[in-house]
Amino acid sequence: MSLYRDTGVVLRVHKLGEADRIITLLTRRNGKVRAVAKGVRRTTSRFGARLEPFGHVDVQFYTGRTLDVVTQVQTVDAFALPIVGDYQAYTAAAAIVETADRLAAEEEQPALKLYLLVVGALRALAGGQRDSSLVLDAFLLRAMAFAGWEPALTECARCGERGPHAAFNVQAGGLLCPRCRIPGSVHPAPEVLAVMAALLHGDWPLAEDSTQYVRRDVSGLVAAHLQWHLERRLRSLPFVERRAREAPLTAALGSDAQAGGDIDDETGDPGADDTDADGEPHATAGGATPGTAAWTDTARATAPGEVEVTGAAEGSRRDTHPGAAGT
Ligand SMILES: [Zn+2]
Repeated sequence: MSLYRDTGVVLRVHKLGEADRIITLLTRRNGKVRAVAKGVRRTTSRFGARLEPFGHVDVQFYTGRTLDVVTQVQTVDAFALPIVGDYQAYTAAAAIVETADRLAAEEEQPALKLYLLVVGALRALAGGQRDSSLVLDAFLLRAMAFAGWEPALTECARCGERGPHAAFNVQAGGLLCPRCRIPGSVHPAPEVLAVMAALLHGDWPLAEDSTQYVRRDVSGLVAAHLQWHLERRLRSLPFVERRAREAPLTAALGSDAQAGGDIDDETGDPGADDTDADGEPHATAGGATPGTAAWTDTARATAPGEVEVTGAAEGSRRDTHPGAAGT
């Protein structure tokens, strides 16, 4: 019999049989863990209520043959109660745990940064002091940086030329200079890009100084960027096979993609990708992102153990503004 403990956030729960649940957690040390919680749907359950979505819990697991089994639960932070009581915070929190679930695709692969980002964002939503749509967008931008998809907000995504640039293209990875610009790019207002950068690097005064119009465009661009990368990752396996088959066609059409940089050539291959170059009208149309509540300051003040949340951008793989991140 093998026991282990970890701290985690409940991302999802599924019914299992009459009285049990399968709990999906994002843990500090073991990444995403799916485990069975027995008897939690009975009213007499000792820890049923602690294992609701958004709960931040300390759990003891028993290593099972297929799924691990939850044997003890202690609440670390009761985030669920304040979040569920505020509709805007609830919808933001639901988007946060769903995104975290999708980004931590592999079970039991450590994802400490992502875990800290989720805890920080949920703490901010539970605290209710920051606009919840800003909290969500800050989380999504930082989570994308964690995944290696940080949008280029100052330099050209393709050639790296310093901005400011006017054109933004989700498929290309962010801003594009006049030389690299491709059809289908959008032209967000400079304030929109400034707020995105502020959210990514934790400049809350600047982000909170923005108008609702700017925030709406920020949410739209962030949502489009996230959606495109998530969908592309889901398609990546069949795409590999297709690309090999269609290599000559790709080469013939490659002019769009040749500007190089670290983007892949998917944008240059219409046969492999349904989102063609014109396919980005929704990018500035504004996402249906909710709006009202908080984070990093709160996180810093209330949880010394989680201060890394505020410096999350430092851990991003692109690390374009090391000086601006964190403190
Ligand atoms: Zn360029």
